[in-house]
Amino acid sequence: MRHRNVGNSPSANSAIGTIATGNRYIGRFAPSPTGPLHFGSLVAAVASYLQARAHSGLWLLRIEDIDPPREQPGATKLILDALETYGFEWDGEVIYQSKTAAAHDAALQSLLERGLAYPCGCSRRDLADVARGPLGTIYPGTCRDGCSSKETAIRIRTNDEPISFVDALQGNQTQRLESESGDFIIRRRDGLVAYQLAVVVDDELEGVTEIVRGIDIMESTQRQIWLQQLLGYSSPKYAHVPVITHPNGDKLSKLTGAPGIPQENPQPILVEALIALRQDPPADLDASSVYDIWQWAITNWKLETLRGLTAVKSAILHANILTDTPKMP
Ligand code: GLU
Repeated sequence: MRHRNVGNSPSANSAIGTIATGNRYIGRFAPSPTGPLHFGSLVAAVASYLQARAHSGLWLLRIEDIDPPREQPGATKLILDALETYGFEWDGEVIYQSKTAAAHDAALQSLLERGLAYPCGCSRRDLADVARGPLGTIYPGTCRDGCSSKETAIRIRTNDEPISFVDALQGNQTQRLESESGDFIIRRRDGLVAYQLAVVVDDELEGVTEIVRGIDIMESTQRQIWLQQLLGYSSPKYAHVPVITHPNGDKLSKLTGAPGIPQENPQPILVEALIALRQDPPADLDASSVYDIWQWAITNWKLETLRGLTAVKSAILHANILTDTPKMP
């Protein structure tokens, strides 16, 4: 696999130990193996990679494989193969989130023991009629004072103090969790640790200093900051890059039929990603090698050209470049 050595770390866990020291910039890309890498995910990966490399930082690759029901067999390999073909070089070994389950459980136990989290027996049907907001169901606190069900999720207590952060691209962001999401789930009824908790624990373990990711996840950030505060972690910096849309404005995602990026001839697609990121590459850059494209991109990287931009329509889909792409087995 395409990775740069960090220390002498033979395994992901010791790589984490080695990495999480010092004041160095540490970025990461954390795809879930729910399908092949599509152009929208490539753009987010390129942004986080360039931001890390332009800071002479480390760039970690974490496969968020803790939700088997949503995963697609073969997706991890497709993602890793695509990242390799497109010339990404991650630091240390690939980190598999499933391997840090013990740390997720320890965080969960600590929150439960301190009374900051509680079991909730409400089913989907029980919550069918409660208010919904932009973040989904607003949990009304039904089980806050106890619940007798055997099968339970675990929720974290929230309050209505504003939680804010300044996103490097999208500016000041504030939510009041109790009224916007209510106490949210950190372990699901099926026993799986929820994304919000796992991501916070792993970013802390790996010493991540800045998270550059798609704006579609931005609305989760305050819930993650809340968990960081309760667990005594410091918060990384955040920069949320625009989502890539179809020409009709629909977000590029598996649900809207976004195909995986091709494994052949990556140069034009890589250059399209730079164009989507408003990097203004020279006209003939796609005639260069993948290595030279990265050299140009790292030297010329300007995150701030994306300031305030929330969506970019992709011309690439018109050009039909993405038709011959890897399919899930
Ligand atoms: N695993 C998440 C996804 O693929 C991204 C997590 C993150 O960047 O915080 O959507």
